[in-house]
Amino acid sequence: MKQKIPVAILGATGLVGQRLVQMLADHPWFEISALAASAHSAGKRYADAVKWHLPTEIPPGVRERIVGPCEPGLNAAIVFSALPGAVAGSTEEAFARAGALVLSTASAHRMDDDVPLLIPEVNPEHLDLIPVQRARRNWGGAILCKANCSTIHLVLALKPLADAFGLRRLVVTTMQAISGAGARGVSSIEILDNVLPYIGGEEPKLETEPLKILGRLERGAIVPAEFSISAHCNRVATQDGHLETVSVELERKASLQDVRRALAEFSGEPQQLRLPTAPAHPIVVRDEPDRPQPRLDRDAERGMATVIGRLRECNVLDYKFVLLGHNTIRGAAGGNILTAEMLVAKKYI
Ligand code: NAP
Repeated sequence: MKQKIPVAILGATGLVGQRLVQMLADHPWFEISALAASAHSAGKRYADAVKWHLPTEIPPGVRERIVGPCEPGLNAAIVFSALPGAVAGSTEEAFARAGALVLSTASAHRMDDDVPLLIPEVNPEHLDLIPVQRARRNWGGAILCKANCSTIHLVLALKPLADAFGLRRLVVTTMQAISGAGARGVSSIEILDNVLPYIGGEEPKLETEPLKILGRLERGAIVPAEFSISAHCNRVATQDGHLETVSVELERKASLQDVRRALAEFSGEPQQLRLPTAPAHPIVVRDEPDRPQPRLDRDAERGMATVIGRLRECNVLDYKFVLLGHNTIRGAAGGNILTAEMLVAKKYI
């Protein structure tokens, strides 16, 4: 690429915003043109505004940047939004109206009929909703969302099973890391020596978003996939990486070997297009009896893979397994950077 594409980050001081800064600082196609956050941070140097939580240093080109307000006019073709759900809705609309492609990690627009809920390996054909959205909302930009951070890893595991054998129903139980709650999300007094058996709003997301993502696009609308999901969501005291146990019933009979092969051989358009952030293997299957584990496996494929292990028969449904995925990388910042790369490769920019 001769000239890098300018991109802005809204919510740049938060946990997802910091991941975006880290992953975009040396990106081969994109350059950070603007950083924005709340009124509390606007006007400050980024290094003063942010409480940096990552083990790498703040990229030198970003430290001295002045954080701006989350208002259109940021000189960016792509806007990565890492805003809280309550703020994201109208702010993202204002940027799309001003002509930007907005890639959101927030939940505000995820279930809108005309907004693609995209996992680039799973449903790239849903990008065809962009012209539908533009016509319906009369704007030149677009809003695209990534799914909830637990949903993304669950759906990466379900996609090859849905394609090869069909899905009937499943039960998923999550053990979600504290970083999933944001920089000020869970206090140490709540989480140390403890498990919180409730995460507000999380179970409905896990029970509905996969049906949209795995749905068919017909005449400009998504027909949701037809299988049922029961989700239990728990907050545990790991720092990064959501662990999920899944029991699944398939439409058609399959051997354990068939299921393992379908998972291990899964690949999609990001791999064919050799996008810079695409993992070589979106699903990594491990055969050790005690993997995946958050500390050991969350950084597989630079945090962009879903790691699956303990695949075995289930006495109640057909098969069960454990999966793990990085919540702020593939589950948030990395997931949307991969979508942005796909938009460039498919000439939406
Ligand atoms: P966070 O750590 O709480 O960061 C929130 C960011 O939004 C900060 O930069 C904050 O700026 C900014 N902000 C807050 N109120 C604002 C306002 N009124 N106007 C403008 N900016 C405002 O949250 P996070 O964990 O990064 O999550 C960001 C979004 O991604 C959320 O919608 C979350 O649900 C979603 N998400 C998070 C994860 C995860 O693993 N953490 C994964 C997937 C999706 P200040 O620093 O100036 O307050």
